[in-house]
Amino acid sequence: GLVAIEAVDVTDAHRVERVRRDFVANVSHELKTPIGALQLLAEALLDATEPASEQPDPEAAAAQAAEDVAASRRFAERIQRESTRLGRLVSELLELSRLQGAERLPDPEPVSVDAVIAEALDRARTNAAAKHIELVTVGTRGLTVYGNDNQFATALGNLVENAVAYSHEQSAVVVSALAEGDRVDISVSDQGIGIGPGDLDRVFERFYRADQARSRSTGGTGLGLAIVKHIATNHGGRVDVRSRLGGGSTFTLRLPARPPEAMLPLPA
Ligand code: ADP
Repeated sequence: GLVAIEAVDVTDAHRVERVRRDFVANVSHELKTPIGALQLLAEALLDATEPASEQPDPEAAAAQAAEDVAASRRFAERIQRESTRLGRLVSELLELSRLQGAERLPDPEPVSVDAVIAEALDRARTNAAAKHIELVTVGTRGLTVYGNDNQFATALGNLVENAVAYSHEQSAVVVSALAEGDRVDISVSDQGIGIGPGDLDRVFERFYRADQARSRSTGGTGLGLAIVKHIATNHGGRVDVRSRLGGGSTFTLRLPARPPEAMLPLPA
């Protein structure tokens, strides 16, 4: 008995240690990439702004100066993009580690599903407008879920932001809510690039990005869905996905529609 228990504990400790080491290695790699890019871009910017050597022809000097300014702007824009992404990566990592470390939920409160949807749509509005994507809500009004309103808005916001990021211009993203017994299902459907069968079970893993997403360079971090999954499971809920490569995706957040005590089995 004792020996077996010890053996299990040792194996678990090893597993936890391996997961921790993999995580640190992943994080270091993910941070190194944008930092390396920033270093190269800063060097390029320094080169482009180096005082020009004596140029006797004033016309050629002016042309050179104009070219240098244009190049500098391009480098500065890329520095801005990379540093924005780096900032997002760090704040999502912090969020994820907070969620993973949470012993238990802060006391669940009744939360209006309409308010969660409105907040999530607000977060995606700028990006949606830039791509002429229509954000549509359908379904039952006045539903209530139980948990933390900020976390629910973060989870649904991540799903809506993804739907916009992985959709074609001039399409639509539909958010719907449905009461299903003890749960409320909130679905986000898009008509975007979709996810192939090989990637579908892996998209909730930290840092996992399908090839189609990587090649699009949408500035994603691969952490958004891991955060969604943690929020759902910390609340006793779930997140599911249905998708087809090239055929759009539907992500469904299933959240508790009763306070936790009401979800316990009744005493005999
Ligand atoms: P990212 O920052 O890359 O969007 P996520 O964790 O939010 O990270 O998503 C992980 C991966 O799942 C994405 O890189 C993409 O390959 C895929 N994905 C997520 N949402 C969608 C969607 N609505 N349509 C197509 N692919 C998606």
